[in-house]
Amino acid sequence: AKDLGRNRYCFYTGDMHAQAMAKLELEAALSRAIEREELLLHYQPKVAAQTGEVVGAEALLRWQRGASGLVPPGQFIPLAEQSSLILDIGAWVIDRACRQLRQWLDAGQPVVRVAVNVAARQFAAGDLDTVVAAALQRHGIDAELLELELTEGMLMSNPQQGTAMLQRLRGLGVKISLDDFGTGYSSLAYLHQFPIDTLKIDQSFVRRIGEVPDGEALVDAVIGLAHRLHLRVVAEGVETPAQRAHLLRQGCDEMQGYHFGRPAPAESLQAMLSQPRG
Ligand code: C2E
Ligand code: CA
Ligand code: CA
Ligand code: CA
Repeated sequence: AKDLGRNRYCFYTGDMHAQAMAKLELEAALSRAIEREELLLHYQPKVAAQTGEVVGAEALLRWQRGASGLVPPGQFIPLAEQSSLILDIGAWVIDRACRQLRQWLDAGQPVVRVAVNVAARQFAAGDLDTVVAAALQRHGIDAELLELELTEGMLMSNPQQGTAMLQRLRGLGVKISLDDFGTGYSSLAYLHQFPIDTLKIDQSFVRRIGEVPDGEALVDAVIGLAHRLHLRVVAEGVETPAQRAHLLRQGCDEMQGYHFGRPAPAESLQAMLSQPRG
């Protein structure tokens, strides 16, 4: 009924109406989530493949919506991305990650580089470098401690503008990682041109290791490609010792996944960092 002329009635079924209402409600609640302090970051460790040492962490957004428990990002980020809400949320995530690093530093605790996810709209807005620089400055954080995870699609939708933004971000000293690599609209020609530091192999490829015939082919190829381009490779979604062993054999630099640790509150990551590995 979407393409009916503006003078025609649009009939909703009861079901569509309920869905539309639920979406509006969710949006209204989400737009107040920041001021109500209902958003929080969980952290998942990234370990060095060779030593198993925790060398980084990915910040993953959670929404503690009233009494209804933790809402996973898949249930609200896409909605936030439909409006400028994602800009406020995205800036909040960057600020919070820097604030967390500051808290650890002030407490004399060990710190590792923290990676935050960036949404397409947030990247396209054109002021991400300003937002990042302000957060780093506000909390007195060395840019080397911050990494941004972007996807290929964000860069490919406007390669020139994307490259210029990446250059500004890297000029600050921030690291750049291409997330979900291999799942999107990628161009190997541009990959060579984009100023990035790391490729993150998507978990859908990692899952195939030892599971389907030649399931390793893509993972092995991406690791080879990345190293030829002098990029680091991180594998995400590593769940089993067999996956870990294969990735290690192939020279993957870092790994992340339930096998090493689930996303959890900051204290859990700090506990891993503070304990000697056993
Ligand atoms: P992503 O960036 O690809 O993050 C990895 C997702 O895989 C996370 O889901 C993580 O919890 C999950 N994961 C990690 N290890 C394993 C594993 O071993 N097995 C399996 N099955 N899953 C694993 P999560 O936290 O639900 O986040 C989903 C997506 O939401 C993220 O995918 C990212 O695209 C988005 N997201 C999360 N936080 C933010 C944020 O602050 N800003 C934006 N724009 N997007 C975010
Ligand atoms: Ca990510
Ligand atoms: Ca990913
Ligand atoms: Ca993903």
